[in-house]
Amino acid sequence: MPTRPTLRDARGVLADVFGFADFRTGQAEAVQAAVSGNDAAVLLPTGAGKSLCYQVPGIALARAGHGPTLVISPLIALMADQVNALRARGVAAAALNSHQSEDEALTTLAEFEAGELDLLYVSPERAAQPGFRRTLGRRRVALFAIDEAHCVSQWGHDFRPEYMQLAELRETSDAPMMAVTATATPRVLKELVRRLGLTTPEVVRGDFRRPNLAFSVEAISTHAGRLERLVALLDEAGLRDANTGKAIIYCATRKHTEKVAAELASRGFSARHYHAGRTKIARERAQHAFAVGRLRVLVATNAFGMGIDFPDVRVVAHYQTPSSVESYYQEAGRAGRDGDDAKCVMFFGAADLVTQRRIVSGKGAGEALLAIESYAKTETCREQVICAHFGLNGTAVCTRCDVCTGTVTGADDEAHEEAATPLTPEQVAVVIAAVGELSKPAGKTGIARALRGSRAKGLNKCGLLKMSQHGALRGVEERAIVRAIEECLESGELVRKGNRYPTVWPPGKAVRASKSEATGAAPWPRKKAKSAKGIRNAYSPLQGALERFRKNKARELKWKPYMIFQKRTMVALDSERPSTLVELESIPGLGRVKVERFGDDILRLVRENP
Ligand code: ADP
Ligand code: MG
Repeated sequence: MPTRPTLRDARGVLADVFGFADFRTGQAEAVQAAVSGNDAAVLLPTGAGKSLCYQVPGIALARAGHGPTLVISPLIALMADQVNALRARGVAAAALNSHQSEDEALTTLAEFEAGELDLLYVSPERAAQPGFRRTLGRRRVALFAIDEAHCVSQWGHDFRPEYMQLAELRETSDAPMMAVTATATPRVLKELVRRLGLTTPEVVRGDFRRPNLAFSVEAISTHAGRLERLVALLDEAGLRDANTGKAIIYCATRKHTEKVAAELASRGFSARHYHAGRTKIARERAQHAFAVGRLRVLVATNAFGMGIDFPDVRVVAHYQTPSSVESYYQEAGRAGRDGDDAKCVMFFGAADLVTQRRIVSGKGAGEALLAIESYAKTETCREQVICAHFGLNGTAVCTRCDVCTGTVTGADDEAHEEAATPLTPEQVAVVIAAVGELSKPAGKTGIARALRGSRAKGLNKCGLLKMSQHGALRGVEERAIVRAIEECLESGELVRKGNRYPTVWPPGKAVRASKSEATGAAPWPRKKAKSAKGIRNAYSPLQGALERFRKNKARELKWKPYMIFQKRTMVALDSERPSTLVELESIPGLGRVKVERFGDDILRLVRENP
């Protein structure tokens, strides 16, 4: 058995092969574990230099006669980049993946078996094949390195089923395994240790703070508003004329990348879109133009950026809220790689969460969305929230984010809702009676406008102009009436009809065919109104208890029940069943203030209603 290389030998490789004088944070610990034959879980932020954590010991081990290192990497493009870069430095590296010809693959396998390679990069699909495992049985390897190891986690944002089989590689050898990722939530760590079968791994956890990045969240709900803000941000960063700097704009859907890129281009920015639906050539062209600075603004889906390093990105803006804190931090982390100041701005709106809910799936999706929502709504330092998410508690405040600098902008839903003066019970009764007189279900806004006395043409349907309450709430704010209708919908005093355009209707009343329109007012029969109870009975025991609680509290405080908390909050409480005040804060609709006020009562209700 050849002797094991030391950390000093590894430093030699770092200097000779890569030309770097020193290891960065975390690298030495990771390298030390590998050269001494121990498993390691390496959790370092994007750009920290994770590749070197396995390349350096891999080369040192190969030089000392321990055989090649096997690197599992999920993206073929990334593999090719790394292999080319290593070859350019004189390292015997090669890749095996599905994009090669049979011949190329056979040559690579022969080199591997003959012991001519220092590092072999393999796709997870390939590594899972039995044939490949037999090859491994014939050739001793020095180290297994699993890059982007969070792909093994169903709770993560990039789950790849083939990663689940990587533990089997170990049956072929007693070589140590190093798992490397930028996703370091305690849950992902636990899962990757278990799924990859790491034995008492050295856990290397880096510093996830980025002292040159300023994070902010802007609650802007309309596209027009977001575009205006984007234009201002890009102008502030000098991206229209100065000839340095770049911006990446992430959108949740392909359609949005196209729309936003076109808008920005029409306003004089050098902007293009990038998504997985474009041809390979179009994507490569856009990426190349962006790399050399001919293109200054890239509008992309999350298909863009993994493993790519552009030093001078001054702005990363998320045009729509992303699906998790992990993916947000990974994408935002592409800003300011050169160490100069950069901005990471995320737009946030409730509709974004709905979009994400449609796109994402998988075990942890709902929870991940709650986490990004509470990042958006936090009242403490954003960087602290991110660090805590990655298991790093007690970091100092960053002093750069919008919370730290006291520059949080945009109207958050909750603030909005509490600002409207709620309707009196008499006024709410007027609303309910008015809906009872409609000839067809109508939209909330239409009802509100008719009640305020509007005679707009658009209201000339559903009986809005004919109801006897027309104009009865003159002088009451439109949004206050809309809120009251929403409250009635939540309590079951009114029900929602229609899918495409949600409309409002009394519970239990049949909607008559449209020709009845002319006959107008059919008063809402009192008896049927009772069937609203049926809706209440559909509550779970906890939801029922919460409903009673908010009704009583509302009476006591002279508030509206929805101001205590909303239906969606009750639903979330029922599905998440939080058991601590901290967990409560991440429930939608429960900010710090509400948790302070009602938290203990809510937790008690959760405990009492299993
Ligand atoms: P990650 O995978 O963690 O996102 P990479 O491995 O792609 O990061 O490395 C990011 C950059 O950091 C690369 O350009 C790499 O050359 C550089 N780098 C890594 N380690 C060092 C080091 N010890 N000294 C200087 N530069 C380094
Ligand atoms: Mg990497």
